[in-house]
Amino acid sequence: MITNPLLRLERRLSPEALALIQRAGALAAKGRLRIYLVGGVVRDVLMNRPSADLDLVVEGNAIGLAGSLARESNGRLVIHRRFGTAKIRLGSLNVDLAMARAETYARPGALPSVQPGSIQDDLARRDFTVNAMAIRLERGGFGQLVDPFGGQADLDNRLIRVLHDRSFIDDATRMLRAVRYEQRFGFRLEPDTEKLLRRDVGMLRSISGDRIRHELEMMLGEEQPEKALKRAGELGLLAEVHPALEGNGWLAEVFRKAREAAAPQTVALYFALLTYRFKETQCEDFTHRLKTPGPVSQAVRDTARLRQQLPSLAQPCLAPSAVFELLQGYSLASIQACAIATDSAVVRERLTLYLTRWRRVRTGLDGSALQKMGVPAGPELGRLLKELRDAKLDGRIVTREDEIELVQRWLSQGR
Ligand code: ATP
Repeated sequence: MITNPLLRLERRLSPEALALIQRAGALAAKGRLRIYLVGGVVRDVLMNRPSADLDLVVEGNAIGLAGSLARESNGRLVIHRRFGTAKIRLGSLNVDLAMARAETYARPGALPSVQPGSIQDDLARRDFTVNAMAIRLERGGFGQLVDPFGGQADLDNRLIRVLHDRSFIDDATRMLRAVRYEQRFGFRLEPDTEKLLRRDVGMLRSISGDRIRHELEMMLGEEQPEKALKRAGELGLLAEVHPALEGNGWLAEVFRKAREAAAPQTVALYFALLTYRFKETQCEDFTHRLKTPGPVSQAVRDTARLRQQLPSLAQPCLAPSAVFELLQGYSLASIQACAIATDSAVVRERLTLYLTRWRRVRTGLDGSALQKMGVPAGPELGRLLKELRDAKLDGRIVTREDEIELVQRWLSQGR
């Protein structure tokens, strides 16, 4: 079906983006090339949603066209010759240009082999009908929708539908993408697509840890990641990623609390909450399987260890210095995760005080000040600094003068 979404383009794109695609269209017409806006931005424009970046596909030499476009618009150009792609950065606008490609998959889970192709080929290799539409940009055809798979009808009917029966076999990450879009837009999986997904759930095992992690990170980047996680749990996708992974109601509650606590929503914190109920060995399996980067692995591992320490944080009359001592070796994300997920109000309060106040407590006197006062360098100096910090944490001293007095007392006792 070809309709004219021109008005929507003009309404939804920023003036900079609109000017850029018009310039791209003029350049393409001059070079007798066809150029299209494709993928998520087309879907968003048709849904009247804001869309950040532009994806352009050229039938022909995309890199040459990207060079001219970057020059004419004063953008910064980065070329990936091997992939036949280029990126232009223009202020806050990111534009990806690629040559139209046809893809074939040698085996499930493998990366596809790619040849130059038409826009139809390029759309046919995409994940869902709603993501497989293009808008023509060259002068003469500007604004025409190319929709070979009925994407617009699926948008109207709020459906996520694959393009063919082998889609999830070719690339099982699409199953995670399907629930992410379904939940983001409040759509449903089209019934046959859901059947195929249930049939092919096990194919997720053919996907490398890096690619699964990337899709999970995309899920965690959604406004309410718990929705997609819950659905992924119901469909059996999470269990394929790791048998202990659940997307149940508890997770929704802690993710909501994480947002309410306005904790910086680092990926590490979300991963720590995702694996909060894991045993230590399960955490190791998980980080190993997903090849999580250092800080995330640390957060997951620390959370499992810290959970075991939480009962000692519930003891009555625990001085702030004792809490500090116990927590200082743990990553912040793991402490945040425990503060959010613990059932104990006392523990939560202590973890929160550590995060918001105690960990920032600094003494007025540092090592060199102590040496100037006559404290010899060495382990004693370290002990005295810690004593000062503990005294400050516990409110036994407040001002710099208090600190000086404590050091003098310490020296006069010949310690
Ligand atoms: P989002 O709003 O999540 O960024 P997007 O559609 O722009 O959505 P990208 O991940 O940037 O998402 O992908 C761009 C386009 O590339 C998609 O719209 C889709 O057409 C295609 N695509 C991405 N991943 C796949 C995949 N695994 N299989 C097939 N097509 C894909």
